[in-house]
Amino acid sequence: MCIFCDIVEKKIPSKVVYEDDQVLAMLDINPLSKGHTVILPKKHVDSLLESDEETVLACAKVAHLLSKHICEKLNADGCNLLVNSHESAGQSVNHMHFHVIPRYKNDAVIVLNEPAPSIDLDEVLETIKY
Ligand code: 5GP
Ligand code: ZN
Repeated sequence: MCIFCDIVEKKIPSKVVYEDDQVLAMLDINPLSKGHTVILPKKHVDSLLESDEETVLACAKVAHLLSKHICEKLNADGCNLLVNSHESAGQSVNHMHFHVIPRYKNDAVIVLNEPAPSIDLDEVLETIKY
């Protein structure tokens, strides 16, 4: 059991933005911007890296729907869709979730904007080309 499973089971209250059979979306308790929403599968999956495809696709579908809906309703200028996977990537709740972070002109939100120094792109491509 984890905190997001408790939220899915309504043992812990949350501000639900969207819900269907497979997915729940709620306002983040510590929002990075107005409308910051977290989308999670109702079934417990540790992270994107452990998830089956169907569960990821169910969340991605809702992330797409809500990105457009939230930006429109809140007059946001854009949004970030973010999935932190494992502690090294900043995942603090070990139940997969997608962040939709609406963005507003000149806001001060910082999301992954530091380029890594000196990475050999050809070597990386040789390793990961699928
Ligand atoms: P992560 O750092 O794992 O990518 O994101 C976890 C997110 O869940 C954080 O943005 C955090 O604010 C949010 N969060 C943690 N606990 C709760 C909670 O009890 N309720 C809600 N609505 N959000 C939570
Ligand atoms: Zn869970």
